[in-house]
Amino acid sequence: MKVVVVGAGVIGASIADALADRGVSVTVLDMRGPARGATQASAGILAPYLEAHDHPALLDLTSRSLSLYPAFMEKLAAADVPVEFARTGTLEVALDDEEARRLQGMKAWLDARGVEAEWLDSSALGEREPTVHPSARGGLFIAAHGFVRARALVAALVAHAKMSGAIFEMPVEAASVESSRDAAVVRADDRRYEADAVVVAAGSWSKRVRVANVAALPMRPVRGQLVHLTWTDGELPRRVIWGPRCYAVPWSDRSLLVGATMEDVGFDEEPTVAGVQAMTTAASSLFPAAASARIEAIRVGLRPKLPDELPAIGRYARAPRVIAASGHYRNGVLLTPLTAALVSGLLVDGVEDPVLAQISPDRFER
Ligand SMILES: Cc1cc2nc3c(=O)[nH]c(=O)nc-3n(C[C@H](O)[C@H](O)[C@H](O)COP(=O)(O)OP(=O)(O)OC[C@H]3O[C@@H](n4cnc5c(N)ncnc54)[C@H](O)[C@@H]3O)c2cc1C
Repeated sequence: MKVVVVGAGVIGASIADALADRGVSVTVLDMRGPARGATQASAGILAPYLEAHDHPALLDLTSRSLSLYPAFMEKLAAADVPVEFARTGTLEVALDDEEARRLQGMKAWLDARGVEAEWLDSSALGEREPTVHPSARGGLFIAAHGFVRARALVAALVAHAKMSGAIFEMPVEAASVESSRDAAVVRADDRRYEADAVVVAAGSWSKRVRVANVAALPMRPVRGQLVHLTWTDGELPRRVIWGPRCYAVPWSDRSLLVGATMEDVGFDEEPTVAGVQAMTTAASSLFPAAASARIEAIRVGLRPKLPDELPAIGRYARAPRVIAASGHYRNGVLLTPLTAALVSGLLVDGVEDPVLAQISPDRFER
């Protein structure tokens, strides 16, 4: 079988790898290069119970994907590309009493679901995470969570996919996809790629890839700005810290990612003074030592958002050789192992996982 994947973000790269691993002949097209869309900005936090506690369908998807992560990372080790991946939990911090009450309510909710969670009062919090502002009222620790470095993850996926024969062609911008009884055809610039199936994993830009006979997905880009800090003053936070106005991810090189804004500004990927100010102010209110950190870089990305905040994964009924894999919004890195498994299961084994009915790309036409 021959498959063309449009997009080499974390979603396209993982699908290409999963297919190539199963013996499929894969060509990946990207208009920029691997991980040059939302993925390069991603904080890589793997935290279903923070991100999706109020969205049951998303919680099912994200917690299922998190459970696939250890085996997913283990398989990638063969590529010999180092990828930082840590299951050190998340600590959500309350800076006032109202937040503390909300987090205690959240702990009760997690307890009822059998998810391990620990409430730390202010002195326990100070011991567990001395970098957090001493006036914090307490924090909720969720052990199952973690993070992965998204760019390194894509580098490993690309290397691993190439080991199984996948071809990456870039820069190539796909303009349209047609699906007939016998084949699917991608048109890109003056080139034409014919395959048995085409996977459109073009993130926020997915609706710009025209699929014949199918309405464009109602995708909106949501800009996120994130500051990458180099810590200069004492100990770095020990795990992912989630505050009321920002989150922070500590990397082993003593840098800290602080994110992220949520902005509806179309396809504008430029950083702004207001965005950087919001993130640096939020970081300083959470960690006193952040004020003396160096700004290493500002990262900006466009999260691909669909109206119900669920991804679109699966075949189009009216173009069955075309498979959508986009709209992963705030949780694309977390949803990567599941997305790759669903698409490769569909194409290689012909397995329609029951969850695909809920996340079908056709649901917006109904
Ligand atoms: C600031 C920020 C923080 C985030 N933090 C987290 C987090 O902590 N945890 C988490 O799980 N998720 C997080 N996300 C979300 C996550 O990054 C995205 O959901 C994920 O990266 C989407 O991956 P993707 O491959 O679908 O899209 P992208 O990474 O955007 O990749 C799409 C690719 O398609 C290519 N492309 C587009 N159009 C075409 C075309 N016509 N032809 C060829 N190529 C094309 C682009 O060049 C790009 O490389 C964050 C996102 C942002 C912006």
